[in-house]
Amino acid sequence: MNIQRNSVVSFHYTLRDASGDELETSRDGEPSLYLHGAGNLLPGLERQLEGKAEGDVFSVALDAADAYGDRDPQRQQRVPVKHLLYRGRLRPGMLVQVNTAEGQRPATVLKVGKFSADLDTNHPLAGRDLVFDIEITGVRAATEEEVAHRHAHGPGGHQH
Ligand code: ZN
Repeated sequence: MNIQRNSVVSFHYTLRDASGDELETSRDGEPSLYLHGAGNLLPGLERQLEGKAEGDVFSVALDAADAYGDRDPQRQQRVPVKHLLYRGRLRPGMLVQVNTAEGQRPATVLKVGKFSADLDTNHPLAGRDLVFDIEITGVRAATEEEVAHRHAHGPGGHQH
């Protein structure tokens, strides 16, 4: 079965930057699972998965603009430390999650004060050209419930 609208796709990926350094991989756990055509992946990546089948191995290169957008030097914010989620001691360069009204957002710590921290709120991968090495490990039709929820259910996908 080839990937089309309302396919549920499982895949392994390794994410690299333009110089080939590995940034992230699914290889140490379950493959990722997503519902095709529901906008759950980066649009440029989802487009390249269309029509592929189980066992296909390929790479998708995305310019920063098609991945997580360009880096905006103005996107800095001072945030009370109590709104941050992190492990260990807070320090510059650390990636943290910020509790906001719209849920958690990743940010990078620039400077730590006594009660607040200055954050770079660009997505950590903003401004970077990226390459995804993909292996499709499974393709099946979505259930009615998955189509209604607009996401895939199961290990590697939504579990609720
Ligand atoms: Zn659901």
